[in-house]
Amino acid sequence: MTIGKLLEMLYGSVGLVSGFIQDATPFLEVDARSAIEDLMKGGYGLEHDMISGITGLPLAHPWFVGPCFYQRLKHMVLDKVAARSRGLRAILTRQPMEGRQNQGGQKMGEMERDALIAHGSAMVLDDRSRIASDAFKASVCRKCGTLGKVQEESLAGLKRGLSTSCRSCGTENAFSVLDTTYCYAGLLLGELEAMNIGVKHKFRTTEAPTACSKAPLVPLVPLAPLAPLAPTAPTATEVPAFRPMSNIFASMGTEVANC
Ligand SMILES: [Zn+2]
Repeated sequence: MTIGKLLEMLYGSVGLVSGFIQDATPFLEVDARSAIEDLMKGGYGLEHDMISGITGLPLAHPWFVGPCFYQRLKHMVLDKVAARSRGLRAILTRQPMEGRQNQGGQKMGEMERDALIAHGSAMVLDDRSRIASDAFKASVCRKCGTLGKVQEESLAGLKRGLSTSCRSCGTENAFSVLDTTYCYAGLLLGELEAMNIGVKHKFRTTEAPTACSKAPLVPLVPLAPLAPLAPTAPTATEVPAFRPMSNIFASMGTEVANC
């Protein structure tokens, strides 16, 4: 493509000098040398003096200048580049804003999620989809499994040692902190409650060591060496005799009529 532009400038200059239309299609063999000679004959030359648009002084070196059809791409990098470390969040979801105009973050969609899963990078997945997005600490009652009050307030209450009784079962100080997202604890559970659907969480406690783990190890018994195989006389392979289908069915205990 770059060579093509140079050739186009050369042939365009020849066209200007000679007044003839030049064929610049790739279906003809290119003869740049003869084109240069035509250009030199026409007194156009290959070297031109240029003056700097900044200083107004002549540029030191000669330039090759010629006409060239050029299409400027409308899409510019500066119009597209977008990045942020932290910034605005949507009120509803508490997730980072979407879109470059809103100084939004980069979207990690379903395909990106699949790629992270395929790489087995669980920590990156957790960081991108929860911690860097709408990480949220919810307080959950260990007894009945329901969410606490407004979670952040109840967490602050926990820190200050205030009485934090469960709204559902009334148990005192039975909250555990659940690391989750605001979309789950703040939005989804609230909408489900609005539909009269209650969600309860179960906590899996650390199990005590079982009797199996305390059992003494069985000592390894070394295997006895294998006895050498006794040479066996080759036996003649018996060719099964032809059996009609009725006999086969009869041997299977099946009565076949009209067979
Ligand atoms: Zn409770």
